[in-house]
Amino acid sequence: MARLLMFLSLVLALSGHTACSPPDAPRNVLVITLDTTRADHLSCYGYPLELTPHIDAVARRGVLFERAYAPMGQTLPSHSTLFTGLWPRVHGALENHFLLSPDVTTLAEDLAARGYVTAGVTGTRVLDADTGIAQGIEHWDEEGMRREEGRKLAERKAPEVVDRALAWADRHLASPEAERPYFLWAHFFDPHTPFEAPPEFRAGIDEAVVAERVQQSRSRIRRVGEEPGHDPMARLAEYWADYAAEIRFTDHELGRLFDGLTERGLMQDTVVVIVGDHGEGLLEHGTRTHGMNLFDEVVRVPLIIATPNGELAGTRVDEALSIKDVRATVVGLADGSAPGGPDDLWKDLRARGALRPRPVILERPHYSDNNLLTRTNSFYTEGREAGPMLAIVAEGHKLVVRPDGGHWLFDLSATSPEFEDISARSPALTDRLHGMLQAWLDAHPVLHDADSQDLSPERLEMLEQLGYGR
Ligand SMILES: [Zn+2]
Repeated sequence: MARLLMFLSLVLALSGHTACSPPDAPRNVLVITLDTTRADHLSCYGYPLELTPHIDAVARRGVLFERAYAPMGQTLPSHSTLFTGLWPRVHGALENHFLLSPDVTTLAEDLAARGYVTAGVTGTRVLDADTGIAQGIEHWDEEGMRREEGRKLAERKAPEVVDRALAWADRHLASPEAERPYFLWAHFFDPHTPFEAPPEFRAGIDEAVVAERVQQSRSRIRRVGEEPGHDPMARLAEYWADYAAEIRFTDHELGRLFDGLTERGLMQDTVVVIVGDHGEGLLEHGTRTHGMNLFDEVVRVPLIIATPNGELAGTRVDEALSIKDVRATVVGLADGSAPGGPDDLWKDLRARGALRPRPVILERPHYSDNNLLTRTNSFYTEGREAGPMLAIVAEGHKLVVRPDGGHWLFDLSATSPEFEDISARSPALTDRLHGMLQAWLDAHPVLHDADSQDLSPERLEMLEQLGYGR
């Protein structure tokens, strides 16, 4: 249930300070995607150090979704779901190696059709125009991302993403299009490995606080612990602190983006969305990165949406949702003449003060022994069980169906929920969630497979450089 702070918004609305209704005129839309960002590492989600003051400020004037899930622990599938409102098995970008079908409609295309100027800046070649993710974006910036002779650059750091976004803003203001509403997407790759934030952002992080956090997480320390001459827990705290420094650095640069847009008059009448594409294992269940499993550290992401009139400001929504529903929500918030449809999160919050139950499905696909995935991505199969893994989040629990056909049921309200399988003592709930998952599967056949993908050797090589390859 959305919390009592919403009451405050209601009081303000009744007194005329905010308008709980769709906008009269189209609003600008700014979407920030944070790669590899765990929800629990933002201060506004309870991280014990102040890492994210600029994101926290947006949360105070908007709605924070406590339990937002990426559909998969991978960049392209998750971004594709975010921007199309479709599950990965429907839009077809089931893997970072795959391509988003040109047949789908993206948020940028929705807004372009309504007269918006559309712009985007990407921080990684995993999200370059070749993937299809930029469809509908007229002013697309990936300069320097492509391979040049003797150069293997596959990502851009946050300062360059911000500089390029602000450079677009200047060009936009000088253009005849300046009066039109805009859609701008900026993608930040920095929290992805390797962790290499500037030293000043790492220096301010109190390792003792991080170490306590690591202890609470009951992290397993297998790989880190194998390094000789190191105290495993101290080494793990260092690793977590390196990750936190990247999030702190990204937030700092986000502040520069917000200030730069404000100075240019472009933050007025602007809906701001901040969302993660997936989290990071940080060895909580033995895996360091993401994509391998469906535990919360890998798939639970931040989602914050703020409107220019501060509607529902300070609301924290507890119900689970998929970032699949962001597209419909943004369309509804951007343009009052075009309601967002049944998936619109805001419509639920306005009407009921809470989200109605909605499907939250998590997927790690696998096709066959000789498919593209297993041929090129040992990351999935190294010492692990190959095969599809599926999960559903409902009724405060998560049911994970493993490749071996077995399952785990986790009570998400427990202290360390995903370290205790409670399925044996909750058979009725387990059966019910199995039934819900099966009904969803029946309604959502896989529409695309590996054979439908036309992948160049260059693309496979680029992904390999980013650690997704053989
Ligand atoms: Zn990613």
